[in-house]
Amino acid sequence: MELFDEGLHSGVNLALSVDKVLYREQTDLQDLMIFENKNFGRVMSLDGSVQTTEKDEFIYHEMFVHVPMLAHGRARRALIIGGGDGGAARQLMKYSDIAVTMVDIDRTVVELSKKYMPSVSGGAFDDPRFNLVIADGCKFVKETGEQWDVIIIDSTDPHGPGEVLYTEEFYSDCKSCLTPGGVIITQNGVPFVQEAELRTSYDRLGRLFRDVSFYLAAIPSYVGGVMAYGWATDDVDLRKTGLAELAARYMDAGITTDYYTPEVHQAAFALPLHIQKALTKEG
Ligand code: SAM
Repeated sequence: MELFDEGLHSGVNLALSVDKVLYREQTDLQDLMIFENKNFGRVMSLDGSVQTTEKDEFIYHEMFVHVPMLAHGRARRALIIGGGDGGAARQLMKYSDIAVTMVDIDRTVVELSKKYMPSVSGGAFDDPRFNLVIADGCKFVKETGEQWDVIIIDSTDPHGPGEVLYTEEFYSDCKSCLTPGGVIITQNGVPFVQEAELRTSYDRLGRLFRDVSFYLAAIPSYVGGVMAYGWATDDVDLRKTGLAELAARYMDAGITTDYYTPEVHQAAFALPLHIQKALTKEG
């Protein structure tokens, strides 16, 4: 039996049995593979790192989208940078009054996700409220004159084409694309094995925004423990949105979820001490 062996973090590997290879090719930009695994269903990897799986993507994408959307409460325009599998777009489409722009650098990821993993995007790519731009997200935010209420940076890890999506320059350009009171969310890796990346994002975002923190969720196919979503906004009240208000907004939005609840939302921001210490460590 073939094994998919992810070595994203030195010394820590994730091995998944490859029950059937559905697609494997080097796009112009990334090594893209889609294969079947008995536990996770269909799995997409880019440059040897798991991006999304049919079985656990709901956790990752629900927490990526509903935490900022329900904390903000009045978002009408959302921008996704990356997100080529369409999972974040699918969650955003649950909001009746939303317009979504998604900027991904690799059209092949979008097309193959739609073909081989249609449950992840769930028709979002064909929704009239969805607009796809194929471009480098770093260039796009520098040049666009538009603004959004929520910006979701659903990027690969800071290697290859995704590296530019972790720079202070990129975060600053994203800030210029935020409406007043808007919020930016980043994919910030697994703190236990990517502590340096967490700290770097914290410092860079901290130089640009008044309220910067992280919230956590455990994604079974992301090895090393809970993963962190970066949170950055100038509206210091957003993160304090109370449980009753979150519950009312969740109800009013009429969305269905399998992981997200208002209680999980609030609890996700409770950072364990070792992560708090990592953020305040000198040097
Ligand atoms: N869940 C995944 C993770 O946590 O690593 C991310 C999923 S999504 C597939 C990542 C997307 O980022 C890919 O579709 C890739 O093409 C896109 N991407 C990488 N670098 C980019 C860039 N500079 N601009 C826009 N999209 C980029």
